[in-house]
Order: sequence, then structure tokens, then C-alpha cells
Amino acid sequence: MLGTGIIKGMVETARNFVGSYTDEARLTTSEYPEEKLSPKENARTFPFLVFDTTDSAAGLRCVACQICEKECPPKCIYIEKSKTKKPDYTGKPQLFPAVFDIDISVCMSCQICVEVCPFDAIKMDQAFELSTSDRFGGLLLHKEDLAKPNDYYISIHPSEAREVDERLAAEKVKAEAKAKAEAAGSASEPKPAIAPTTKPAPAQPQTGASATPAPATT
Ligand code: SF4
Ligand code: SF4
Repeated sequence: MLGTGIIKGMVETARNFVGSYTDEARLTTSEYPEEKLSPKENARTFPFLVFDTTDSAAGLRCVACQICEKECPPKCIYIEKSKTKKPDYTGKPQLFPAVFDIDISVCMSCQICVEVCPFDAIKMDQAFELSTSDRFGGLLLHKEDLAKPNDYYISIHPSEAREVDERLAAEKVKAEAKAKAEAAGSASEPKPAIAPTTKPAPAQPQTGASATPAPATT
């Protein structure tokens, strides 16, 4: 019958309204901003850059590979590579972003940048109180605004962060074992033998008939 869905919706609303006086489960609203509910673990707003240790520059995981910049559908990521390198979490020298900007007025929170990042360097934030009267500058986030410690990532996405930490730790152990094996291999390699420097033997004077100079013919 036409309008059945609307009636069902109204009935549900009425049940929640009346029930909210006696049953807390039916309290579907909160007094924001005085009362703030914790977001669900999978809730997401805009991306941020993860750094390890306490140094946001040295510990930044991003290696400026620019994959996220290329894959971002609305092209709201802008990266400039560094001219020098810094060690990554395995100690390998890597580039880093000299500039990393995200225009969150354009970002559509699709999470594609997170999915394509091979370094677990960019993750989705849950911060949402970002309104500003500065439409352009205020919503263009720079590297310094985007960089957040791994502890923050763990606090908002604990399950996901635990899995990432375990994977990175395993990769680090593997890289260290490989480096150790390579170092041991090069140390045990036989050294090339040094060839004795012998002088070539002087040419011996020839003897016999063949040694006799042929008579000059006239
Ligand atoms: S979440 Fe989507 S739109 Fe936003 S920066 Fe990442 S890829 Fe681009
Ligand atoms: S965030 Fe990831 S995909 Fe984007 S440039 Fe950095 S390392 Fe590459």
C-alpha cells in the first residue's frame, strides 16, 4: 500500500521517542557539543601522515613515492620530493616529502590514498571539528598539520594499527637478517690471489742452421 514505509518510519520514531524516557538503548541522540560520543573504530574523515618515534620529520614513514597523489580521484594531494634522503624504519635511505599538502575542501574521504600506499604512511583520521571561515588556506593542510604519531593512529584504529605494527616489525627483522647475511657473505668471500709479478724471459739467441743468417744474394 502506498505510504506504508512512511507510516513504519513514523511508528519507529514514536517508539524511540517514548522509549527514550525508560530505555537508554533508545537514546539515539546526544547533546553535542557538550557531550561527544567516541567515533566507531572504522569511522573516517580525512587522511593524515603517520610518523614513528617522537620526531615528526625523521620518523615520517612517507617516502614521497607519489602513488597516492596519482591515484587520488579528485587530485587533492600535492607532493614535492626531497633532494636528500633519510633512513626509513629499516635503516634504508629513502626520499621524503619536502612538501605534502592535502586540500580537505576537495577530499572526499574515499580512502584510496590509504589503500594504495605501500609504506603504511597515510591513514584515515577521525577528527571532524575542522570548520573554519578561511575557505582556502584553512582547509589546505600541510605536512606539519598532517603528521601525527603512530600512538595517535593506535588510539583511533587499534586493531588496524596492531596489524600494521606487526607487519612492519616482521619486515624490519627480515631486512636486518638480510643485511647481516650480506655482510657475512662478503666477509667470507675468498680474496683474489695476487699474481706474482714475473718479468718475461729474455729472448734466447737461436742456434743451428736456421740461426745462420742467409747469404746475401746479388
Ligand atoms: S581520501 Fe580519497 S579524495 Fe581524500 S586524499 Fe585520499 S584519495 Fe584523495
Ligand atoms: S603517503 Fe604513501 S603512497 Fe603517498 S607518497 Fe607517501 S609513501 Fe607514497
